[in-house]
Amino acid sequence: GLPTIYVITPTYARLVQKAELTRLSHTFLHVPQLHWIVVEDSPSPTQLVRNFLAVCGLTYTHLHMLTPKDRKLQEGDPHWLKPRGAEQRNEGLRWLREKAPAAAADGGNALAFENAVVYFADDDNTYSLQLFEEMRYTKKVSVWPVGLVGAMKFERPVVENGKVVRFHTGWRPNRPFPIDMAGFAVSLNLVLANPDACFDGNAEMGFLESSFLQNLVTMEELEPKADMCTKVLVWHTRTEKPKMKREEALIKQGLGSDPNVEV
Ligand code: UDP
Ligand code: MN
Repeated sequence: GLPTIYVITPTYARLVQKAELTRLSHTFLHVPQLHWIVVEDSPSPTQLVRNFLAVCGLTYTHLHMLTPKDRKLQEGDPHWLKPRGAEQRNEGLRWLREKAPAAAADGGNALAFENAVVYFADDDNTYSLQLFEEMRYTKKVSVWPVGLVGAMKFERPVVENGKVVRFHTGWRPNRPFPIDMAGFAVSLNLVLANPDACFDGNAEMGFLESSFLQNLVTMEELEPKADMCTKVLVWHTRTEKPKMKREEALIKQGLGSDPNVEV
């Protein structure tokens, strides 16, 4: 059997949430042996996400973990001010570590679990199907380019003689791992062997990925994928916030869109 890909997706309530999750699920439906771990940034699971997951057609786990108020981006803050999704990714890791022993003991599941890989997929990025086959056989940590990120066409690890020797990035290239969240996958065994490795929600701007990876690997150990990091298979796309000017005007006249219709 194929190694399982555990995809951890932080998500939070906003107007485009269901649209994002719908699009993402349609990508994942094309990927064999994928288990989706959806972690809501909310005090409890929401009906919208629960109902959506029940009919999405994927194998999934539905979790939630509220970002503490002092760590959360406030309306009007620039988006880079605080790391987003850290607590949710950590909750996904916690679930994997807790469930691992039982799944490993399950005869039918043992093999898929033995070589499983963990990937952190934000709900608004764009993922090529090829990406998942690149990451599927990860020994420790595999890496590849990410398109449309860091105010560049792409960022990528630079590979010489089959090894990552530095990173192509426009900003603070001397960070331990100047690599976007979408640009790496980790073997589940490595996650289990390092039970304390997690994302530091208080990490300085741009250091969230490093806070996790620096406890797991060295640059020399990174496994370059996507033709030695020459192909862009994932894009850090961001979704425009929908305008609600007319909706708000109509609400004032008592003519707002029916709140019972889920969007
Ligand atoms: N996210 C979250 N809570 C928040 C903001 C973001 O759970 O308060 C999630 C979001 O749904 C996404 C991930 O964290 O899956 C990264 O957030 P975003 O895409 O806004 O970050 P950016 O693209 O600006 O790096
Ligand atoms: Mn994003």
